[in-house]
Amino acid sequence: MRRTGEDTGAARATSSSGKSGRREPNRRSDASKPDRTTPPAAAEATITGQPMAEAFLESGLAPGLYLVATPIGNLGDVTLRALEVLRGVDGIFCEDTRITAKLLARYGISTPLAVYHDHNAEQVRPVILAALHRGERVALVSDAGTPLVSDPGYKLARAAIAENLTVTAAPGPSAALTALILSGLPPDTFFFAGFLPPRQTARRRALERWGAVEATLVVFESTQRLAESLADMAETLGDRPAAVARELTKLHEEIRRGRLADLADHYRDAGPPRGEAVIVVGPPERMEPDRGEIDGLLRAALAELGVRDAAAKLAAETGLPRGELYRRALAIRDEKG
Ligand code: SAM
Repeated sequence: MRRTGEDTGAARATSSSGKSGRREPNRRSDASKPDRTTPPAAAEATITGQPMAEAFLESGLAPGLYLVATPIGNLGDVTLRALEVLRGVDGIFCEDTRITAKLLARYGISTPLAVYHDHNAEQVRPVILAALHRGERVALVSDAGTPLVSDPGYKLARAAIAENLTVTAAPGPSAALTALILSGLPPDTFFFAGFLPPRQTARRRALERWGAVEATLVVFESTQRLAESLADMAETLGDRPAAVARELTKLHEEIRRGRLADLADHYRDAGPPRGEAVIVVGPPERMEPDRGEIDGLLRAALAELGVRDAAAKLAAETGLPRGELYRRALAIRDEKG
């Protein structure tokens, strides 16, 4: 068995039992103080030190990196397979050991925990990659929901893929999809944009860029900024239908639906609500074209241009589909003749 001598994030995932580390209780004795600062001791830190084949046979899990989704509020929302993976891997990397320890305790799982978050990722990533190269099974979870989605893990998964290591997932909850399906807005095409920029200038610039996207827009936002962000959205995107999905899967779950300006007024008057929220905004609303007006414009264009050019000119001016305008222009030309 190999161990590093230091008690680090990585070393905490290292077995000291001489057997598999999988049954070892979480090493963090003081669960109120997560280890957010200490880097791993060395890149050769091991998760179990147990020979790969032995470990594989014991848990039935193949070696590799497991990206595991966890609940976004209600601890009951964990999949059977997520539990199987979390129980079976050699070590779990998480953002905050206090939060993940609660989930593990609820399901009687004692897999060793270690920390992987934005502040130690550069040091811990090589440790995890080294463990994977030795054939260990490593799970990555975030505090809530699906790792990598506005949470740490992308660079780790990318590096593991680049090094031809197995990367797989135990999918499950995500606040973005849960908000989308509860919003009452079209779910067929959506654009998830992560967190809105916190500063107004950057936020407005981003919203202006996204405004033309023909999709339902889904963004994460702090409840402290809901009123100002909704007001910015109303101004830059137009007063579209929207929903604020708050405290999803929790006791005080609330989906507030309405036009952006009304939602902005509500949160301005009521003050910032508690908890976490996702904003969902409907796609750009196509103005129903006034047929008579379009025909008049086409006739004017046809007085100077051919059918194809007249349709292209109007498509550029109105945003209406060029094919539709072309067919209408043909009909008008044929009437004339
Ligand atoms: N990776 C996570 C996921 O897949 O759901 C998202 C993590 S991101 C750091 C956290 C943001 O997700 C919050 O600020 C909020 O916008 C949203 N969120 C997470 N849990 C939520 C919940 N229960 N209700 C509403 N929004 C939630």
